[in-house]
Amino acid sequence: MLALKIRQSEFHRYLVPVDTSSTQQLFTDVLIIGAGIAGLRAAIEAGSKSSVTIVCKDGIEQSNSWNAQGGIASVLGDEDDFESHCSDTIKTGCGLNNVEIVRQVVRKGPELIRQLLNWGTEFDTIDGKIDITLEGGHSHARVAHAHGDSTGMAICKALVRKVRSMPEVHIIEKFYAIDLITGDENNCLGVLGCNGGGHLQIIWAQNTILSSGGAGRLYRETTNQPIATADGLAMAFRAGAVLRDMEFMQFHPTTLYIAGASRALITETLRGEGAILRDNAGRAFMKDYHADAELAPRDVVSRAILSQMLKTNSTHVYLDIRHFDKSHFSKRFPLISELCSSFDIDVSKDLIPVRPSAHYMIGGVKTDSKGRTSIKNLYACGEVASTGLHGANRLGSNSLLEGLVFGQITGELAGEQAAKTELAIRKYPRMKIPIPISDRSRLDTADVLNSLRSLMWRNVGITRTAKPLAEAQEIIHFWQRYVADKVFDKPAGWECQNMLLVAFLMALAAEKRTESRGVHFRADFTDTDDNKWKKHIEIVKGE
Ligand SMILES: Cc1cc2nc3c(=O)[nH]c(=O)nc-3n(C[C@H](O)[C@H](O)[C@H](O)COP(=O)(O)OP(=O)(O)OC[C@H]3O[C@@H](n4cnc5c(N)ncnc54)[C@H](O)[C@@H]3O)c2cc1C
Repeated sequence: MLALKIRQSEFHRYLVPVDTSSTQQLFTDVLIIGAGIAGLRAAIEAGSKSSVTIVCKDGIEQSNSWNAQGGIASVLGDEDDFESHCSDTIKTGCGLNNVEIVRQVVRKGPELIRQLLNWGTEFDTIDGKIDITLEGGHSHARVAHAHGDSTGMAICKALVRKVRSMPEVHIIEKFYAIDLITGDENNCLGVLGCNGGGHLQIIWAQNTILSSGGAGRLYRETTNQPIATADGLAMAFRAGAVLRDMEFMQFHPTTLYIAGASRALITETLRGEGAILRDNAGRAFMKDYHADAELAPRDVVSRAILSQMLKTNSTHVYLDIRHFDKSHFSKRFPLISELCSSFDIDVSKDLIPVRPSAHYMIGGVKTDSKGRTSIKNLYACGEVASTGLHGANRLGSNSLLEGLVFGQITGELAGEQAAKTELAIRKYPRMKIPIPISDRSRLDTADVLNSLRSLMWRNVGITRTAKPLAEAQEIIHFWQRYVADKVFDKPAGWECQNMLLVAFLMALAAEKRTESRGVHFRADFTDTDDNKWKKHIEIVKGE
């Protein structure tokens, strides 16, 4: 492990002044920040043991979970087994997986997926059994899907229904969590946030579960929803939690490329079911890059596409599904079918223009096998966490599974532990922490964010080298000097502060890792260096 301590002289511990005497306050046993698959699953578990408040910064439907398409991986087929799912996960993770965590997640999968079915998730079935499909990197068909390519929505709808039926769970939408509040004993006491009415509010909690999702919005090209602005990572860092593997951002090989349109994901299940990648001369090129061609792991396919785009001087490549049965396609992939039609792409005749985009944040808040972070009473699960499941590369469809499993684990522990503590002995401190007024110039945060996203795409993207990575840190640091010292009163300002901080940490970790491994590809260090780098980079706030 390489441990980095980052000096915080120019950052404030809290983004806004804290004053308990003039701020509305709520109390709950378990506070859950984020209502994607991980947070919802945690709420169900914790809510059967104690009182739970679950907050999300927008509507409950605005999450990456809600938009997940392809499916959720688990051992559900007769010919499949746990060893095989573990070994595929470990092979993809390139030496950095925590094998115990892999086993734990894989083994819990089937039971938790059947539970989802019982709670009303409308998985696609064949002869009464969950239908499973093959995806790149998996040696067996094991990806369960729902309504074809609306798996995330189907799972979340069932989870939300279940959560809403639980009297002990209180959902607050449009509550923006600004900062975790910590006490003197390296313990988390809850959160300071801004409610839908624009008022600051403190939610004190026995235990807090961070499930605030990923950081894809740091990149100009991304599949992620607008909520994925790295808030949880930044909050946890400011609170003193250890972050790990921040250099590992996974890029999805195939997102629809139509200038001006948002980067909608074209699920890799299509490649699993026979779609072919072609360059602008119509040539199928994947065999040039990997023996498994279209079924190679994501990082290999993303880099192959980028390299082919450069070779052919093109802004994109194409996905060819002209040989698919059209009526099967529109039933199996209704969302993508509708999307293509909306841009007049007739998939039986036309090729689909695609290119890679930032997709999944592998790094995150370091946790142990119970989802505990380095701060007492603070748990993390889902994409915000670094549990060690994915190693240096995530196997497709393993992230919904991870959110489900660690949601259940953290919810159970946080709920049980909170229930044991008597209300009478819960004490919350009075706090008054001002922030000095800055006399430095103001920058336009929208402008900074646009520039940041382009910078991250160019300098901390799919292919990296030392100089652009160092340059990215310098530029981000310059912006931080004018943004981090300000007090904002709206989410847009706090998001900008969070994204600058996390972008800096990602560029720093990517510069330090002088090798290529998994999703982290250094054009100046193309080999994997097990002697020096078969280890994690951990980052924590310094004195
Ligand atoms: C288009 C797309 C398709 C995908 N397809 C698949 C797939 O098929 N299979 C698979 O396994 N994975 C897939 N993934 C990845 C997977 O969807 C995510 O990794 C997973 O859903 C993350 O779940 P989560 O609960 O951790 O976070 P999310 O589902 O992203 O939820 C984050 C929650 O945190 C809240 N939040 C964030 N910041 C704050 C704040 N400051 N204050 C309050 N609330 C906050 C948000 O409002 C939201 O409720 C896909 C991702 C995308 C983007």
